[in-house]
Amino acid sequence: MGPNLRRDDGLAVAVTNMTPPELAAICTPHPLPLYRRPSRPGRRPPSPGRSFTPLVFQGNMPMARRRQIYEGKAKILYEGPEPGTLIQYFKDDATAFNAQKKGTINGKGVLNNRISEHVFTLLDHIGVPTHFIRRLNMREQLIRQVEIVPIEVVVRNVAAGSLSKRLGIEEGTKLPRTIIEYYYKDDALGDPMISDEHIAAFGWASQEEMHDIADLAIRVNDFLSGLFGGVGIRLVDFKLEFGRIWDNDWSRIILADEISPDGCRLWDMTSNEKLDKDRFRQDLGGEVEAYQEVARRLGLLPEGGDTAVLDLDSHRKRRGK
Ligand code: 5GP
Repeated sequence: MGPNLRRDDGLAVAVTNMTPPELAAICTPHPLPLYRRPSRPGRRPPSPGRSFTPLVFQGNMPMARRRQIYEGKAKILYEGPEPGTLIQYFKDDATAFNAQKKGTINGKGVLNNRISEHVFTLLDHIGVPTHFIRRLNMREQLIRQVEIVPIEVVVRNVAAGSLSKRLGIEEGTKLPRTIIEYYYKDDALGDPMISDEHIAAFGWASQEEMHDIADLAIRVNDFLSGLFGGVGIRLVDFKLEFGRIWDNDWSRIILADEISPDGCRLWDMTSNEKLDKDRFRQDLGGEVEAYQEVARRLGLLPEGGDTAVLDLDSHRKRRGK
C-alpha cells in the first residue's frame, strides 16, 4: 500500500488490482427495473431477467458517410453503424463558465476517450448499465443511442466549486455525507440547480427513474472513490448524465456521456494538486499534464517516457510561477 493511503483505502487498492472477472465475481449486478412507456399501453412486460436486444457491430463506418447528430462543447455525436448506436467523438475543445471561457487542451480528447473507456468498462463489470459499447480509435467510441434525461447529476464528497461559493464552505472541507444535486441541462439558462420537485412537476424523469438514478450515482461514487483512492487521487465531486433506452414500450435508465477529468474534480491526495479541468477554469496551466497524470496512475499510459510527464512543480517552474 502506498504511503498516501489510509487504512480504509485497502479495499480500493484490492479492487484496483483485480482483473475484470474477479471484480464481476465480488459485485452482484442489480438488474434495474424496466419502465413502461406511459403513452402506449397494451403490451406485456418482458419476462424477468430478459436482456435488451443485443447489438451487432459490423465494423467502422467511413468518416465521410457519417451523419452528425449533435455537436456539444467537448464531443460530437455521429450516427452509428447499426440502428440504436452512435459514435461519440472526443474533441480537444475546452469550455468553462457556461462557455464564456473557451480554449483547447491538446490531446484532451484522446485522454478522455481512454479514461472514460476504462471507467465505463469497470463500471460495467460491477453491474452498472452504461451506454459504452467499445472504443473504436484514439478519439471515438461506439455507444448505445439513448434518450438523454435532461438532468446533470452532481455527486459531492468534498466542498469545492459552486457548492463552496453558494454556501460559503471552504474548498477542501470534507462533507458530513455525500451530497447529490440536480441541475437542469440547459445551456441558455446556465444549467440551473433544481430539486426533485421540479423534476417531478415538469416530468423530466419519473420518480422510479429518479430512484434508479440516485442509486446508480451512489454506486458510481463508491466505486470511483475506491478506484481513484487506490492511485492516490481524491474524488472531490463529479457530474453524471443518464439516458433511457427503449425496447418497444419498455425503458430503463443507463449511465451515459463520459467520466473524465473534464467532469470530475480529482485532487492528488498528498499535495491537493488539482488534476482536472479546474486547471483550465482557474488558469492554473498544466492541463495536459494533469489529464496525463490521471491516465498514467490508472495504468493507461506507459510508465516513463515522454508521455509520463506529471511533475506539476517543474511545470510551474517552467512557467515562472
Ligand atoms: P460545480 O457545480 O462545483 O461547478 O461542479 C461540480 C462538478 O460537476 C465538477 O466536478 C464539475 O467538473 C462537474 N460539472 C458540473 N457541470 C458541468 C458541465 O456542464 N460540464 C462538465 N464537463 N462538468 C460539469
